[in-house]
Amino acid sequence: MKISDIGEFNWIERIKKLYPQVLPDGIRGIGDDCAAVPWDKDYYKVFTTDMLIENTHFLLNEISAYELGHKSLAVNLSDIAACGAKPETAFLSIGLPPDTSVAWTDEFFKGFFSLAKKYNTFLLGGDSCKSQDSLIINVLVTGIIKKDHYKSRDTAKTADLICVNGNLGDSGGGLRCILNKIERNKDIEFLIKKHHLPEPQINEGMFLSEFKGVTAMMDVSDGLGSDLKRIIDDSAKGMIIDLENLPISKEIKSVSEQLNWNIFEVALKEGEDYCLLLTINPDEYEMINNAYLKKFGKKLVVIGKVTDKDFDKNSDPVYRLYAKVVDTGKDAFRQF
Ligand code: ADP
Ligand code: MG
Repeated sequence: MKISDIGEFNWIERIKKLYPQVLPDGIRGIGDDCAAVPWDKDYYKVFTTDMLIENTHFLLNEISAYELGHKSLAVNLSDIAACGAKPETAFLSIGLPPDTSVAWTDEFFKGFFSLAKKYNTFLLGGDSCKSQDSLIINVLVTGIIKKDHYKSRDTAKTADLICVNGNLGDSGGGLRCILNKIERNKDIEFLIKKHHLPEPQINEGMFLSEFKGVTAMMDVSDGLGSDLKRIIDDSAKGMIIDLENLPISKEIKSVSEQLNWNIFEVALKEGEDYCLLLTINPDEYEMINNAYLKKFGKKLVVIGKVTDKDFDKNSDPVYRLYAKVVDTGKDAFRQF
């Protein structure tokens, strides 16, 4: 059996089963955007790490050194935002091919530190190695959060509203344009910029973490389709999604029309939007959304609702619309 036969999630589950750990009281381990360790009576320290590998996560001749420095930190900060925490420190390990120019690495760090400064994150260490063939980057970020503000993926409740706080599909559309070598225009440049310079939702995550009515939260990294499945499965719930409500930018709409893409497929299947996906108690949605709108000038867009696990998906017209996309997609989409 190959790893590719079972997929990343099942592989992680397998490790957890083969080598079960009894964690000391109060520690939150594998399974969420961040792990959390009690710091004192009231606070958790949180930890997350993400790796970027040349030709798997980026193409060196497409992304600038500045953008890659920014993105390496941004994807980690996004996981900190996902649990509502405030970032504090970062560690950077990097495997560099020996012919990498010093000027390139200077630019990389310019991008890294510009974002680090914005979110008060201090680079405290790391490791540097020679890599024979490809550039490999691993970042670890730590943060801090009040224990009763910490948001996880497994606490969505039946009837909660499912919301996102940003457009879906821009980054994935940008990636498609890069991979298919589509001739650039203004809209395509916009999408590629979204792909290369994602903005971690740190302030938004910290703000939302203060509301009890936000019942679960994660970031959209693998694609809305598979990330929705995680929040729902981890919470042992079902869902209905209204595809017509997915927030879609005019740029991805126009590029999808131009290139004959199924817009829902782009929005659900391609990843790296790095917006927040959250569930909100329906009685508190209006209050939370109003406060959020006032603070950030944008809405928490309702895209569906949480149902019981055994909800009959065929009884709902919205779900059928979703299922139509399921049939045209592949991999994780069939599992819905
Ligand atoms: P995210 O997309 O939020 O970064 P992942 O899908 O990468 O999360 O990982 C899901 C969970 O599995 C996380 O809690 C992560 O820490 C854990 N995980 C991933 N890879 C490993 C590994 N090699 N060893 C231990 N835990 C892992
Ligand atoms: Mg995440």
